[in-house]
Amino acid sequence: MKKIAILGSTGSIGTQALDICARHPEEYRVTALTAKGNREKLFEQVRRFRPEMAGLADGIDPAEVPEDLRGCRWMSGKEALREAAAGTEADQVLVSIVGIAGLQSVLDALEAGRQVLLANKEALVTGGHLVMELARKKGKPILPVDSEHSAIFQCLQAAGPNRPTRILLTASGGPFRTWPKEKMHRASREEALRHPNWSMGAKITVDSASMFNKGLEIMEARWLFDMPAERIQVVVHPESIIHSAVEFEDGAVLAQLGVPDMRVPIGYAMAYPQRESTGVEPPDLFALGRLTFEQPDEEKFPSLRMAREALSAGGAACTVLNGANEEAVAAFLRGEIAFGEIYTRVARALDRLAGLPARNLEEIFEADRLARQAGKEGSTSSLY
Ligand code: NDP
Ligand code: MG
Repeated sequence: MKKIAILGSTGSIGTQALDICARHPEEYRVTALTAKGNREKLFEQVRRFRPEMAGLADGIDPAEVPEDLRGCRWMSGKEALREAAAGTEADQVLVSIVGIAGLQSVLDALEAGRQVLLANKEALVTGGHLVMELARKKGKPILPVDSEHSAIFQCLQAAGPNRPTRILLTASGGPFRTWPKEKMHRASREEALRHPNWSMGAKITVDSASMFNKGLEIMEARWLFDMPAERIQVVVHPESIIHSAVEFEDGAVLAQLGVPDMRVPIGYAMAYPQRESTGVEPPDLFALGRLTFEQPDEEKFPSLRMAREALSAGGAACTVLNGANEEAVAAFLRGEIAFGEIYTRVARALDRLAGLPARNLEEIFEADRLARQAGKEGSTSSLY
């Protein structure tokens, strides 16, 4: 039996991981669950999975905990996240919270010798060098949950001692793939949230529409697979059946296929090195008929270029891109700015702050703070 702690259990990834736990009660025992503020959902999950501890990042007054859940140890704020990452008897810690808050949790879990199952891409984007170094030192390689990186990781299981020469990182192209640039820049919140293939949290769905998600995933792949950005090719693949692929020196390409359902990569990381049922059926290739591929339009989606530039600038540039983007996306979701303004705000933050250092957590958090400030500034005129 594996013991698992889930940080961000009330979110899109967290609830699907709990689905898998419920499907295999003999395989998993849940030791910790955390959310930010959604207490009703967390109460429900604690009632069902009976973890040793549970916590809310926004805080909880012990008097608010329902009578039947008081056997669980309840914690608040940052301490709750730290305890969930390192303080229970978990073998594996699924970090599925959103944002840079995930970085501290990943480091805490690694420091405590836990196996990290990583959905939170921001931890690698902002502190990839610290995370990978600690994972190496502790002999606990990170198991990716992001579907593309899980696909690459699965392909690499067949690579033996051979290193891939290139990574083909697939992208659906999002809801605006076929839209003219000007129309995309005026898109509404509802239009940006209408992802053609995947059902995900709001922030990452907007990132898929702007392709900042793919930019962040280039950074994630660079760290997870020690692959220079120029050997990571983004391939637009609107059907989202090939989740990514790797090329080898001999001309062979290995790819991983599946329907777009996160339970597959989540379940793979949880059960690794085994495979077990997730409730997902394999794709019906005859029903699909054909799979298509396109070059990404880097002029319409400058996010890809910005991500590559941030990676080559090094230091805190990727943290700056991430922080400014998070604030700009939040402003867009509140209806304060037009979609196109997300690009403008991130570009401006990079212009001003890309040279900041990121040698340790303090410098990373400071760069994040400054980037967020920059991401909040700018024209607030709504174009739609
Ligand atoms: P959701 O917004 O659906 O869920 C986020 C979870 O984290 C919730 O439990 C939320 O609690 C909690 N949370 C949010 N902010 C904080 C914080 N500052 N501190 C502590 N807990 C917090 O996000 P997703 O599940 O979509 O995404 C989670 C991560 O996984 C992201 O990094 C995303 O990029 C990555 N990812 C997601 C994919 C997907 O399919 N959804 C695919 C690939 C990667 P509450 O409910 O109380 O707000
Ligand atoms: Mg992904």
